[in-house]
Amino acid sequence: MRTAGGRALRGSVAASGSRAVRRPGWGRRQEQSISLMSVGFLLENPDEALVWRGPKKNALIKQFVSDVAWGQLDYLVVDTPPGTSDEHMATVDALRPYSPLGALVVTTPQAVSVGDVRRELTFCRKTGLQVLGVVENMSGFVCPHCAECTNVFSRGGGEELATLAGVPFLGSVPLDPELCGSLEEGRDFIRDFPKSSAFPALFSIAQKVLSQAPARLS
Ligand SMILES: [Zn+2]
Repeated sequence: MRTAGGRALRGSVAASGSRAVRRPGWGRRQEQSISLMSVGFLLENPDEALVWRGPKKNALIKQFVSDVAWGQLDYLVVDTPPGTSDEHMATVDALRPYSPLGALVVTTPQAVSVGDVRRELTFCRKTGLQVLGVVENMSGFVCPHCAECTNVFSRGGGEELATLAGVPFLGSVPLDPELCGSLEEGRDFIRDFPKSSAFPALFSIAQKVLSQAPARLS
């Protein structure tokens, strides 16, 4: 879901006429108040695959933090696929000099995913990264016709995991065709679908994260 989201986000930015920002260092793309950087922006051909070994990937991760002309940021969000590999260690190492606020851990409700995320939590503990909380994604499907919620997968895995790990549970985000559609089409989800079932869930999670991590404005 997160990987697909990232892909869709890049597509949506391209589709909505973003511009590369020219400053010293690597240009990032700017869309209203959000700046983005992705390896996809550096590829000439969108079908190209990066077949790189660890050291080269790790160097690129470091450059994404230090060599991109980010300008003044309130928050830097790094979206990573699930895992506890070299890339995740490289990301934590690259961010360490900037005292990262912590990790937001996303799981789906099923036991298999919860198992993966338990390893993520161990990874955070071992690397000294604070866990801001756990979010359960794809948590039920609210029928757009009758508003009844069907738990397509099981339910409650995220909350159980957070309780077990002693970290905050931040909320559940239901499957929402409007959210997927707005990512695919590059539409502003919050403006165009304020009545969507995922909106109150995302809003409340964002509020909880922001209350833990107020922007450190200088
Ligand atoms: Zn229905």
